[in-house]
Amino acid sequence: MIRTMCWLCDFKTTSASPSAEHRWHARRGFLLAAGAAAASPALAQVEVGSSSGVRKLVPAETLENSARQQYSQVLADAKAKGALAPDGHPQLVRLHAIAKKLIPHTAQWNPRSREWKWQVNLIGSKQLNAWCMPGGKIAFYTGIIDQLQLDDDQIAMIMGHEMAHALREHARERLAKSQVTSIGLSVASQLLGLGQLGNVAADLGTQLLTLKYSRDDETDADLVGLEIAARGGYRPEASVELWKKMLAASGNGGPGFLSTHPSGANRIQELEANLPKVRHLYEQARQQG
Ligand SMILES: [Zn+2]
Repeated sequence: MIRTMCWLCDFKTTSASPSAEHRWHARRGFLLAAGAAAASPALAQVEVGSSSGVRKLVPAETLENSARQQYSQVLADAKAKGALAPDGHPQLVRLHAIAKKLIPHTAQWNPRSREWKWQVNLIGSKQLNAWCMPGGKIAFYTGIIDQLQLDDDQIAMIMGHEMAHALREHARERLAKSQVTSIGLSVASQLLGLGQLGNVAADLGTQLLTLKYSRDDETDADLVGLEIAARGGYRPEASVELWKKMLAASGNGGPGFLSTHPSGANRIQELEANLPKVRHLYEQARQQG
């Protein structure tokens, strides 16, 4: 079973991290040392923190190349199993229509993304999951759409959340912070001139499929995703509906799951608190479109 980079968040991570507070302080400390990048863009309605400068240890281009390779591999594996939705599949058509409405609102969160070739694919799997790799490579599993019976607004909230992980470079930051990668890249930088890029890219790509985001990353992706979806003309309340569905599904998923993933309720509260900030964006989008 493929373990993907965004487990639709804390619901799906295997343990509550006792070091969240420590990590928070570590991040702030690093920002002081590295100098903070711009936080929210000027016109943003939700407030999120700055991206950590540590992510610069991993060149964006290298990571995007790795992601592209890994994405191709995932699609090829799915196709070989007959699990890749073909062009014209009704659910895939639906996903593409939603992506088309969201993509125009992504670049303000990451100017580099103007160069990205966004892709959306649908994979037949019972997993309640979806993800977006660096560079805008998105996959949805049929399980999350079918089992949660998602409407377009709720799908848009998931897509916005996953896009936000990529736009805010959470994977880049996670990888940069992993010691293995730091060592790997220092070696890699020496090897780049020797034609070893392929190996380095493959190594990073493999890590993309197993890395987990922090709770800070999840909050960040929730809020940025909410704003992107609202600007795309999708009901802000769908974010809360979505996570309530996720909570219910997770509760059925195994004994004690919710007791070890207590942040679910917090994330719903945080989204509810942010609904008024994006409501006018949604209304504007509806009027225009
Ligand atoms: Zn996430």
